[in-house]
Amino acid sequence: MTGRYAPGGTCPVCGKHGKPVPGQTIKSLLTVSLRLRREQDYWFCRTETCPVVYFSADGGQTFGQENVRAVVYQKKPHGADTPICYCFQHTAEDIRAASVESRLEIVADIEAGIQADQCACDLRNPQGSCCLGNVNALLKELSRRPTHTQ
Ligand SMILES: [Zn+2]
Repeated sequence: MTGRYAPGGTCPVCGKHGKPVPGQTIKSLLTVSLRLRREQDYWFCRTETCPVVYFSADGGQTFGQENVRAVVYQKKPHGADTPICYCFQHTAEDIRAASVESRLEIVADIEAGIQADQCACDLRNPQGSCCLGNVNALLKELSRRPTHTQ
């Protein structure tokens, strides 16, 4: 076997546990020739400071942001144009700048899109799954801000 073994999907660079991604996510989002893709499972690294976005199951191959079509929210959560919802085009900045009411409208818009089967998270979101967990985590984080009186 070539490359370092990544036990249970551990990122070969930062050593944190990743998240498995569907094959079509990699195929859809890589900017490089898909001939480079190996016949193995790929994992997504969520560590903000780690340059790796995807790594192969054996840890022998990695792809970074420069190899991915979309800006990866987990790597650049404070970027002005970084999407948080890749299917319905909401950025993290949109949510931060919105009033409490508008934030709920954004969540309702995402939920309505999911209900109507209009999302394609596996093809558009680099993490290969729905954005709602990230959106809810951001909302939670914002509601804990000191500007908010508890
Ligand atoms: Zn990593």
